[in-house]
Amino acid sequence: MKVLLLGGTGEARQLADALADEPGLSVVSSLAGRTAEARVPDGEVRLGGFGGVDGLTAWLRDNKVDCVVDATHPFAATITEHAVEATRAVGLPLLVLRRAGWREQLGDRWVWVGSTDEAAAVLPSVGARAFLTIGRQELDAFAEVGVWMLARCVDAPEPRPSWCELILSRGPYSLQPELDLLRAQRIDVLVTKDSGGDMTSAKLEAARALGVPVVIVRRPPVPAGVDVVEEVDQVVRWLRERR
Ligand code: NAP
Repeated sequence: MKVLLLGGTGEARQLADALADEPGLSVVSSLAGRTAEARVPDGEVRLGGFGGVDGLTAWLRDNKVDCVVDATHPFAATITEHAVEATRAVGLPLLVLRRAGWREQLGDRWVWVGSTDEAAAVLPSVGARAFLTIGRQELDAFAEVGVWMLARCVDAPEPRPSWCELILSRGPYSLQPELDLLRAQRIDVLVTKDSGGDMTSAKLEAARALGVPVVIVRRPPVPAGVDVVEEVDQVVRWLRERR
């Protein structure tokens, strides 16, 4: 059984590892190819976009794919929509793996917003020294905000923004260094997307401990009628049932 695994996340890599020795399965991991030095999963890998819904539909047919697992990031909404449309066009089963979102805990001061534009609009009313952890693709939404900002990205935005300080690094992150960073930079507001997972959640613990408010962007919804699971093991079981 041939499986297309849409990846770009830690869970997609874990899944590719878990499936590497699974009898009767041939898995192709697909990466968008955006991040320099992306951590490549085990097994066969293809890189780059498919060329929209039509390109993905053709790829599924040409490569005789039997089912698709979408393990892309919760905010990668376009590729998920394309996967839904293309699998419907070809008549293939699709399973979406979405890690659970983060939950507010006692002591948290979270301001939920619907988009990065909305995050930028509320930011000056929440703090004066902001730590932006929303990736580089939507950083421009904050260019005119006018408060002091420190942005953390995996790769440098092009062109390099003049209106914020930059830290280039890749998770996972742990509590003590996050506390040290927030204190050293006198951060009084954290901006994040609700990515979920353990790899980058230490910033939320640090913000909680220091009483720093968090502006948090809600996830885009998964398209209606699509099967969704939260754990890698559930995908493995789903594939075994279909093999
Ligand atoms: P997106 O907006 O949903 O997708 C934009 C386009 O990128 C898609 O239309 C598709 O191009 C291509 N693409 C995306 N994921 C792909 C994949 N796994 N394999 C092949 N092509 C893919 O995605 P994005 O938000 O730019 O994210 C790009 C990748 O980075 C995703 O794979 C995602 O898992 C990963 N990622 C995203 C975030 C985030 O915050 N958005 C964070 C961490 C990792 P075509 O239309 O040409 O097929």
